[in-house]
Amino acid sequence: MKKTTGSDPAVTARWRPATQAVRAGTLRSQHGETSEALYLTSGYSYDSAEEVAARFAGEAEGMQYSRFRNPTVDMLQNRIAAMEGAEACLVQASGMAAMTSALLCMLSAGDHVVAGRAAFGSCRWILDNVLNRFGITHTVVDGTDNAAWEAAVQPNTKVFFFETPANPTMDLVDLEFVCGLAKSKGITTIVDNAFATSVLQKPMQFGADVVAYSATKLMDGQGRVMAGAVCGSKQWIDEKLSPFQRNTGPVCAPFNAWVVMKGLETLPLRAPAQSANALQVAQFLEDRGLRVLHPWLESHPQHRLAHKQMVAAGPIFAFFAPKGREQAMAICNALELIDISNNIGDSKSLMCHPATTTHHNMGPEGRAEAGIEDGMLRINVGLEDPLDLIEDLGQALDRAGV
Ligand SMILES: *Cc1c(COP(=O)(O)O)cnc(C)c1O
Repeated sequence: MKKTTGSDPAVTARWRPATQAVRAGTLRSQHGETSEALYLTSGYSYDSAEEVAARFAGEAEGMQYSRFRNPTVDMLQNRIAAMEGAEACLVQASGMAAMTSALLCMLSAGDHVVAGRAAFGSCRWILDNVLNRFGITHTVVDGTDNAAWEAAVQPNTKVFFFETPANPTMDLVDLEFVCGLAKSKGITTIVDNAFATSVLQKPMQFGADVVAYSATKLMDGQGRVMAGAVCGSKQWIDEKLSPFQRNTGPVCAPFNAWVVMKGLETLPLRAPAQSANALQVAQFLEDRGLRVLHPWLESHPQHRLAHKQMVAAGPIFAFFAPKGREQAMAICNALELIDISNNIGDSKSLMCHPATTTHHNMGPEGRAEAGIEDGMLRINVGLEDPLDLIEDLGQALDRAGV
């Protein structure tokens, strides 16, 4: 392999985020390629039987099998870890593979989890339908209420699990308080940081132990592949996550890892640009008299906390059709530029009606508890000119009678 400074974590840790996004983790082959190589291989060959024995014994560095390691996947992991300021990272086949692995690798029967109420539907499903079956109990709390976290702790609580901002209510969790509380009680915090990414929010700076991602979203940023990532201390990754992942196999395909890695190169440009576009669109909707949930607007009850722990609020926010579900659907149907889609993090603007799509499974009671009203719409603001998005929303609101 040809030498690059990108493969030395001691060097990449000193770089600023834009440089890390483009160069951290890079391994070059003997050909000296400038774009990272895509190693589509499941296996590896060895110069001798002794060499492979040494690698299996953990006495020699090197690849053995792509369920364990792959050079392209290694590059992505090292790039994400550098950007997060984490000691280590492993990537997975999807965001849900990341969340499931992060939880299952460290929980046992009899353990207890405290989770934020507003959460991605499948994250709630794991708690109710997977962990539950193996005797791992949980308490769901209003993540915005610091006292509720404290009150929910039991002697067997092992994990705090939450997202901030949360999908789709844009509720925030006070990272410094909740991570500090966990630390004081020996509880591990797992933060789902998909809505922000390390460019907009670094939970570890506030004491988070584990930061987990759907890399399908802003990290890829162009809606192309599924992937997930989990960052943590080297000890936690080596002792908990790595053995679990190597043996259960939710690994990220090298091709998908390569696509996400190329996506990361523009993340420090895209995330602030989409955040600025989203704020402009949110301001337009609020000025038209609509109720908007956007953490950067003064109307958001936690806007001070947002400014404390985030660099910008990200591309996603929610707003309400005043007359409820039918009007919300009419707004979607009148769109001419923005697509009706339940994905987020894409460079294209996308809108969906959470009550009938992403949060349909929760049922009416679950939605009422989580604050997901029938008139709520969630928008992912992309990289189009925000004035074109505002024109499209304006004509859609007119036609839907708002
Ligand atoms: C999309 C998403 C997930 C799940 O990720 P996949 O890549 O779709 O498996 C988990 N958490 C949040 C906050 C998400 O937005």
